[in-house]
Parts: sequence; structure tokens; C-alpha cells
Amino acid sequence: MKFTKILALLLAAIMCFGMLTACGGSGDDKKTTDSTEGTKAPADSNSPADSDAPADNTSGKVFKMGTNAAFPPYEYKEGEKFVGIDVEIADAIAKKLGGTLEIVDMEFDSIITAVNQGEVDFGIAGMTVTEDRLLEVDFTSSYATGVQVVIVKEGSDIKSLDDLEGKKIGVQLGTTGDIYATDDYGKEFVTQYGKGADAVIALKGGDVDAVIIDNEPAKAFVAENEGLTILDTEYAVEDYAIAVKKGNTDLLDDINEALEELTVDGTIDRIIAKYIKAE
Ligand code: GLN
Repeated sequence: MKFTKILALLLAAIMCFGMLTACGGSGDDKKTTDSTEGTKAPADSNSPADSDAPADNTSGKVFKMGTNAAFPPYEYKEGEKFVGIDVEIADAIAKKLGGTLEIVDMEFDSIITAVNQGEVDFGIAGMTVTEDRLLEVDFTSSYATGVQVVIVKEGSDIKSLDDLEGKKIGVQLGTTGDIYATDDYGKEFVTQYGKGADAVIALKGGDVDAVIIDNEPAKAFVAENEGLTILDTEYAVEDYAIAVKKGNTDLLDDINEALEELTVDGTIDRIIAKYIKAE
């Protein structure tokens, strides 16, 4: 018993020595407030990237992804399992970089802080690249486009962006929808919710007159809730990218390289097509 323990320690020491990245790195030893024990993206998650796993898949690094798993189809939960476009893209990137993925679920507006404090290695959450955020974190190349749209009740008198003046608008806290709506229509007209789904419930209940949110979650929420519709107007068109700690160019370059490969070999398109059916 003792001998096996010593052997294990010895092995661990040798491995650490050989693979500095596995033992050092960005805050692996740090406490995560909302860690998702037992909910790591499973190896059998049907990720199209599974079959693409490189032969040198040996660094063993656990890449922690910060996200807000209430944003379908990018990240959400099916039972206890995390699924979605971002989850699968992050899983494929982690594999390309020779490691595995761990998902840390948190409020959307905590992700940038978590990235900067090293609680997670990167943030992927349908996150829009904005100039303000670029002051805080670095972003990889963009892997998807998002559009801010307006959800209203069917038959609403809100038919255009101008009609939103003086109306009560629900948003998800800290998102670009929140920031733009506050700028354009005034803070007093904007109600922030922790989750987009809660803003939608508020809309159904008449607490707000409209919800401004990204188009794909908007479609998912409208499909799940009768009596809602999306205005045929684009409030803002945006690029989604992955946030890494400012100045961590090694990781930024690694992720960009992985993203490039996954784009060229069609993995990204396959993942997106799995969750977003062509209309
Ligand atoms: N794209 C929006 C933003 O970056 C919303 C993202 C989200 O709610 N997960 O602010």
C-alpha cells in the first residue's frame, strides 16, 4: 500500500517535471465558486471533434471554460449535462491542445473577472467582442456572428426599434443588449435579469414590454413560449469570440490556431449546423 503510494507520488513528480503545463498554468489550484463537479464535458458528448483528436493528446491539461449555461443553443443544460455550440467548440479546442475541458458555470457578468483572476482559462459564452471588453481581456478570432433582436408579445404595438421609446425593456444583466438598451432608451426603462429566460418570463407576465437579446437564444425562447414573436429588425450585429486573460498571448495563439484548424476541417460548421438548423 505504502509502496504504491510512493510510486504514485514519484510518477506524479516525474509527470509534473515532464509536463510543466499540466502542473503550472492558470490557476488550476484556485477555488472556483461554482465549480461543476461531475459535469465535465463528457468524452462521449458526440462532439464531432472526438474523431479528430490528435495523436499527441498527452499534455493532460484541464482547460477551465467560464460560461453562463442559460444561453441556448450556445450553452445550456440538458439534465445535468452541459451542451451547446460553445461547449462543443471549447471541447474540440481543449482536445486540439492536448487536454480536457472543465465547465465552470457562472453569471454572465462574472466571466471576464473570472478570466482575469485565473479562475478559468478562457470565457466562451456567446460573448460579443466590444471595445470596452477589449480593454479588459483579449479576444480570439471570431467563430460566430450574433444579432441583437427584440422579442415582444404577438400583437404588441411595438413594431420597430423607434416604438421602444418609453417602453419597459428586459435584458440579461451585463450583456450588450443591456448596454445598448441602457444607452439608447435610458436606464430607467431597462430591467436587468440574471438569465435571458427570466426576462422572457417577465415579458409574458407583462412586467416588461420587450426583451432585447441575441437572436439564437431569442429563437429558442420564443419556440418554448407561446404568444411571443421576434421583430423583423436587427438591433445590432456582433462578433462572438473567446476571451482570454489580457496578455496571455501563448494561450490566445494556441486557441486561434486550434480555431483555424477546426474551421478549415469543417468542425466548427458541423457543430453550428447541429444546433442551428438552416431555415
Ligand atoms: N452576446 C451578448 C454579450 O456578449 C450576450 C451573451 C450572453 O448572454 N451569454 O453581451
